[in-house]
Amino acid sequence: MEFILKEKIRIGISACTFGAKTRWNYRGWDYVSDLGRQGHDYTWVPVCPEVMAGLGVPRDPVRLVSGNGEDFWQGKAKVKNRKGMDVSFQLKEACQEALSIMERSKLDAFIFMEGSPTCGVYRTTLKERRLGKPPGVFGSLLLKEDLFLVPALDMQSPWKWWDWSRRLHAFVWLKHKEIKTKKDLYDVWHMLKFLCQEVDMPSARQLGTDIADLPKSIDQTHIEEWRSKTLRFLRQPTTLKRIQGNLQKHYKHYRKVCGLKPKDLDVPGAETGKQKFVDELKRAERRMAESGYSFAGNPVLYRPNR
Ligand code: SF4
Repeated sequence: MEFILKEKIRIGISACTFGAKTRWNYRGWDYVSDLGRQGHDYTWVPVCPEVMAGLGVPRDPVRLVSGNGEDFWQGKAKVKNRKGMDVSFQLKEACQEALSIMERSKLDAFIFMEGSPTCGVYRTTLKERRLGKPPGVFGSLLLKEDLFLVPALDMQSPWKWWDWSRRLHAFVWLKHKEIKTKKDLYDVWHMLKFLCQEVDMPSARQLGTDIADLPKSIDQTHIEEWRSKTLRFLRQPTTLKRIQGNLQKHYKHYRKVCGLKPKDLDVPGAETGKQKFVDELKRAERRMAESGYSFAGNPVLYRPNR
């Protein structure tokens, strides 16, 4: 079964994390450049709803009043700036336009700036540990879309980004994979099960049992139900401890099955730094791909046609 993505994944991103100084205080971050060459493996579509609303840079910061982003779309909450000016109408139009841009761009994922009353998904303030009123106005729309959502701040952590990007690749591969029979479904599951088990063992077991419980002759409804359940599952992050634990298991397996020597797979110890650990994970992926095997911890890789 093909486990290589040949097309670049298309990702929407809050423009202020893409190097554009679109924040209220004329600041921004360039998290994509920080990814180095890996940043070129994706097609990026930056949007900034607050700038698209015509609020300009610099501007007074805005905040949600009387509710969260969900309430905003139901007409129960408003967005006002520091001077008390109601900017709800402009922001509503801009968020809807940003959503149209995303649809036209055929995105599979969105990287959002957490902590913003507009783009935030799980928090709308960056103040200490407070969550604010999540989701934000645009964040509320993002949650309703069939997208893989990534918090931009996790691009700053080598292992967290490795975890997000491997699940993103698997997500996009599964989303577009043609599945017609129960055997196809088993083949897909065989590809993804180790990754899913690493995320959450009991739920992953359930996904496997769900296939076994299906009738012999399945229809497209069964397939799409299983697919959407698994896509939702792949959106969940895992922990560094689980990744480290599973890497040892994978290496043991590859030595046995592929006959690789210990020097080919340099198992990182517990004391290994996070960056070095991620470098070793990438080396293992390459080594497996060269040997014609998929790396169970990261089963779907991007390799463009040159
Ligand atoms: S968080 Fe969203 S709305 Fe705010 S500056 Fe960034 S892209 Fe613009």
